[in-house]
Amino acid sequence: MYGGLLRTILFPFYETRLRGRETLRALAELERSQWRSAEEIRDLNWRRMLAALHFAEQNVPFYRARFAEHGVRAASVQSPDDLLRFPVLTRAELRAHGRDLVAESFVGRLHASGTGGSTGEPVQFHFDHRTYERRVAAAMRSDGWAGARLGDRELHLWGTPLGETLSKRVKRSLHEAVLRKKMICAYDLSERRLAAVLDDIVHYRPAFVVGYTNALYQAARYAIASGRALPAPRGVVSSAERLFAHQRATIERAFGAPVFDRYGCREMMLLASECERHAGKHINAEGVFVELLRDGRHALPGEAGEVVVTDLLCRSMPLIRYKNQDAAVAAAAPCACGRGLPLLASVEGRVLDLLVGPDGQLLAGELFPQLIKDQPTIARYQVYQDRRRAITVRLVPGKGFQPETARLIERSVRRHLGERAEVRIQIVDQIPLTSGGKHRVTLSEVPVELSRSTSG
Ligand SMILES: [Zn+2]
Repeated sequence: MYGGLLRTILFPFYETRLRGRETLRALAELERSQWRSAEEIRDLNWRRMLAALHFAEQNVPFYRARFAEHGVRAASVQSPDDLLRFPVLTRAELRAHGRDLVAESFVGRLHASGTGGSTGEPVQFHFDHRTYERRVAAAMRSDGWAGARLGDRELHLWGTPLGETLSKRVKRSLHEAVLRKKMICAYDLSERRLAAVLDDIVHYRPAFVVGYTNALYQAARYAIASGRALPAPRGVVSSAERLFAHQRATIERAFGAPVFDRYGCREMMLLASECERHAGKHINAEGVFVELLRDGRHALPGEAGEVVVTDLLCRSMPLIRYKNQDAAVAAAAPCACGRGLPLLASVEGRVLDLLVGPDGQLLAGELFPQLIKDQPTIARYQVYQDRRRAITVRLVPGKGFQPETARLIERSVRRHLGERAEVRIQIVDQIPLTSGGKHRVTLSEVPVELSRSTSG
């Protein structure tokens, strides 16, 4: 009853009339465009890519200068292969030139956001509210594929904002209560917390669950180990970390519902997500242009390539050919669902190790990007835990770094792991890459096990 009322009357009134937002109009448009043919969508995607390129060249001096340095012009681009001569934007460049990427023509209020990142390099970026609304609409479309309906109970096993003021928290809680979104903080994955999470799920009976991959997986493992039966939602969305096949199987078994894996980044939100066929992830092609690079060319379907992504919506701070340091493989065949949105066969996203506290409690690796995202003076970081559970936070200081920042981070880590945790901060010049050439944000040598009492 309430769900229907919220869906048809209350939310549209609030969002569209009261707040003047375009979310629902954008959602309606996306609901339609997804069924256009692959060719039509490829056309739309390409036209928007060209428009983004032209806009950046005309309105952002940073891009104008970079394009000129490379001897390229938006006007000369005829086909996707021509993009290969354009420079990519690295995270390090985004860090260094953040403010220079704001368009000259943009007037209005910008929202600042940041990410502690999949790569251990904190970056700050900005976007305008129209862009945000359209990104939310894209996420809502994918939620729909996974069985979500506005007004139904949703449970989010996610990182709640750290260091939020009381008034902000009250406002957020109220907003969530009206929208029937229950947020459960996903950082603390100790068994005590997991038991409480399962209680919450049993009492709340969500129709739709969203969570960090590892948080969902640990909750699922714990439910199975402790013999707890969970009320089945329509779908479970896993996100923010790479999902392995065994994790999918465990989550599906515990929740009694299909898992819909999702791929995104904080800078642009949703990039690609699974539909009900689970045959790969549909690219959010109305909002992003995805290139997969391999040896200086575009990878063929079936070949892994580095992800380079262009935001097609944001005109306040355009991100053009942004290399987010993930790798992905394009699918060779279209999805049988009939949507024309292109398909990624697989994404090699980030892997965040869980950390183990002094009493054996688990802590999501996601915590660290959250703790460090608002510290622009840290150039790079890595959290390392040795077999004795001692934690070393390695920091590469950037411009303006103060020792107080290191102390602040140490205090925050202790607050989450307990005073007994062995934590030290190490200032280093650089952080070695893994053998695969990847930068790992969290790295732990401690095997993750549930205690004997529940693992039977
Ligand atoms: Zn599909």
